[in-house]
Amino acid sequence: LLEFEKVNKYFGETHVLKDVDLHVEEGEVCVIIGPSGSGKSTLLRCANRLEEIQDGEIRLAGQSISNPEADINRLRQRIGMVFQSFNLFPHKTALENVTLGPQKVKGVDKATAKRNAETLLDRVGLGDQADSYPNQLSGGQQQRVAIARALAMDPHVMLFDEVTSALDPELVGEVLEVMHGLAEEGMTMLVVTHEMGFAREVGDRIVLMADGRVVEDSPPEVFFENPRTDRGKQFLSKLL
Ligand code: ATP
Ligand code: MG
Repeated sequence: LLEFEKVNKYFGETHVLKDVDLHVEEGEVCVIIGPSGSGKSTLLRCANRLEEIQDGEIRLAGQSISNPEADINRLRQRIGMVFQSFNLFPHKTALENVTLGPQKVKGVDKATAKRNAETLLDRVGLGDQADSYPNQLSGGQQQRVAIARALAMDPHVMLFDEVTSALDPELVGEVLEVMHGLAEEGMTMLVVTHEMGFAREVGDRIVLMADGRVVEDSPPEVFFENPRTDRGKQFLSKLL
């Protein structure tokens, strides 16, 4: 469904993605791990055209994303993204944060947008917080609103970039649980995380990046029990 082919990305002279090949199948949860600076966030940002690539191609459902003529707005509707920082609109309620995109970008009428948003807030366990403002919510709750907001656009793929890294430890679980639920419903997901429990339990594939390259791409049981590469072994040994 989402394909990276020989993707190369430079920031000036710095070569940050090197011949990255990655095919994420429909319904698959692909977990990306790797040391700081290895290019994980850049890879996700390229998939959403927040960054341009210099070489190679990225496709969604067979259509080029990286082509300069691609309709970026339409693509972004089909690829939802959630970041480490929640970036909710501070002066809008949880419900308004979720209804805004569909109304403004997709032209959904207010009543429909509201009905969908209520369903989504229920789904992330926040049905009773629809009228709360972000500063009245915990970090975990805000992040769940951010997930509901991304889902409101009805994306084909969801990208998650360390969405629990800024949370207090006791709030991490509730966000991972929502992501686990999404995975079970068959959402195609590309997830950058340090949560190895989640990676192991929910991931269909573990993709290890190092220095801008995919250095291992294995099922979780292989990666965590008996990694195929030295880089994989090295990475695991540092976790223990
Ligand atoms: P982390 O685990 O710390 O989030 P990461 O794997 O997400 O790391 P990236 O943020 O993708 O890594 O960064 C990859 C490389 O690209 C790093 O060397 C970083 O310094 C560089 N880089 C990222 N964004 C920019 C930018 N906007 N301009 C210049 N260099 C950048
Ligand atoms: Mg990052």
